[in-house]
Amino acid sequence: MKKIILLATVVVSVVSAYAQMKPESTEWYYPQPTKVIPAKVLNQPPSDAIVLFDGKDLSKWTSSNGESAKWKVSNGEMFVVPGTGSIRTKEFFGDCQLHIEFKSPAPGNHNGQNRGNSGIFLQSTYEVQVLDGDNNSTYVNGMVGSIYKQKAPAVDAYTKNGEWQVYDIYWKAPVFGTGGKLESPAMITVVLNGILIQNNYILKGDTPYIGFPKYEAHGRLPLELQDHGTDVAYRNIWIRNL
Ligand code: MG
Repeated sequence: MKKIILLATVVVSVVSAYAQMKPESTEWYYPQPTKVIPAKVLNQPPSDAIVLFDGKDLSKWTSSNGESAKWKVSNGEMFVVPGTGSIRTKEFFGDCQLHIEFKSPAPGNHNGQNRGNSGIFLQSTYEVQVLDGDNNSTYVNGMVGSIYKQKAPAVDAYTKNGEWQVYDIYWKAPVFGTGGKLESPAMITVVLNGILIQNNYILKGDTPYIGFPKYEAHGRLPLELQDHGTDVAYRNIWIRNL
């Protein structure tokens, strides 16, 4: 009996609390979000973005072996110079929004993984594949837009060889606790040419060529672009820390 009375009292008080609520009860005004001027207004990266390549030089980059970056810059584009190695940002990143555009070189006799292969390595570890997707057969979890050897893109949004391909990538970095234990895995959303191709995909670990993915504890790390032996072009690279 006591229980029934108690329950009735709780129900009555909840109902009367709702009855007293006004629209303003669930509205707030602070803190105000920071004003950011979007790229489409500026015709350049958003006002709070870190510009990693503005078409002029590689001052934000080093070679992944620590030497100066040896890729070529011309006409506002930067090109992989095959054999000079991957390059990485001097700055380290965690959660981020990345905008990057690439263009595949003329195919020549190359096919599959040898045609226009490069890669965008979030935190130097997790590869979003860059490949010529123009009538180029390969394993789908290694095609353009894949999370390399883990997840094929939901759809094929590549256009044509010789055309600029636009990636927008939203990255949630993995979190490691004491002893390097994985507390929360990395998660990625990828938009290619305005089309959602990876939707909050939870990574199983790194993206090795041979073997299975695994996690190894790390903190903030550079963004890396891969030299895979073809002269892929990049332009308009900017990043926002999240
Ligand atoms: Mg690659």
